[in-house]
Amino acid sequence: MTYVATRMAAKALRATGIDVIDLGLGEPDFPTPTHVAEAAHEAALAGETLYTQAAGTLALRMAVAEQFRRENDLDYGPDDIVVAIGARQIIFSALMATLNDGDEAILPAPYSVSYPEMVKLLGGAPVTPACGAETGFRLTPAVLEAAITPRTKWLFLNMPGNPSGAVYSEAELRGLGAVLARHPQVLILSDEIYEHILFEGRESVRFGKVCPELRDRTLIVNGVAKAYAMTGWRVGYAAGPAPLLKAMKAVQGQSVTSVAPPMQAAALAALTGPQDCIATFREAFERRRDPVLATVADIPGVALSPPEGAYYACIGCAGLIGRVTPKGEMLADDTAVVTYLPNEGHVRAVPGAAYGLSPLFRNSTATADATLTEAMARVGRAVAALSPAKAA
Ligand code: PMP
Repeated sequence: MTYVATRMAAKALRATGIDVIDLGLGEPDFPTPTHVAEAAHEAALAGETLYTQAAGTLALRMAVAEQFRRENDLDYGPDDIVVAIGARQIIFSALMATLNDGDEAILPAPYSVSYPEMVKLLGGAPVTPACGAETGFRLTPAVLEAAITPRTKWLFLNMPGNPSGAVYSEAELRGLGAVLARHPQVLILSDEIYEHILFEGRESVRFGKVCPELRDRTLIVNGVAKAYAMTGWRVGYAAGPAPLLKAMKAVQGQSVTSVAPPMQAAALAALTGPQDCIATFREAFERRRDPVLATVADIPGVALSPPEGAYYACIGCAGLIGRVTPKGEMLADDTAVVTYLPNEGHVRAVPGAAYGLSPLFRNSTATADATLTEAMARVGRAVAALSPAKAA
């Protein structure tokens, strides 16, 4: 079952009057800061209504470069930046600009759902090494080395990770960097869209900062969606090497022309205005981990290591496989688990199958505290209603 299929199934249940709590969502549940919305309004009224450069307005690219300098200690100028319709379009343009048929992209699993779909749409082949809870959902140098072939075009890294919440240490990134140094054909996409959502006082660790020797083949992907509660505004950006950016700008210019200027003005206001919302959101997401961790610890058959960032909980459910629902159906895999949860527990989650790693399910913590606590109680009751696995 895919991400979309779980959403449709929950919607169908809701239509029958059942109050299903949706923990499948991947969007901050906070409003966009008012000054950001006002900036878009003002820009539209001030006549910022024409196409912009394909790469984005100079003002926004300068602000992005400044943010990379301020927060990531990375030295990029406005010409090294491209703005697109969300981080997703950045990734799509990068793949479209580089992938030839059969080229491979290494996507450590669990991965963000759209990564392999984009690779496949553009004729590439996803290579998805399993990076499970035993390695903290991290790719290790040995697994990376084994996954690289002469056809490898890209390695995707995502930290904090969706759905795992995993954050690499500097030493771990250096280990990966050492492998990559031996394979000059591999480009690196570092998706840092959750960069601000880090728990327990963790500091950001940046691939670009830790492995500067790989700068000529590293694309740093980011955007305003998660940090400023702006998923629907659709503004992402990236910094990268000139030849790659040139090709991405061509893709962007010939496909969508530019991001709508009021949206770019909103992103500019987000990056250059008050930053207090970042801490407010981060604190809320960290606080909400607690009821999830506490409930999971009390449910036999499921397991969760504390996520280090982002707003998801990647809950291992090996202990539920083989158990039997009150209707007599055996839970054969994590897809069966997330099919069962809405029916019996009235909670929607997304199966590990959607992220390339099973058996697990992903719950989002981007939900009001009380709703999340209720949802986790429902998961507990639904699991308690299962009968033990039948002896083989
Ligand atoms: N990367 C990751 C890891 C994500 O989880 C998401 C959103 N779910 C995106 C990129 C897409 O970001 P945007 O909304 O800026 O396109």
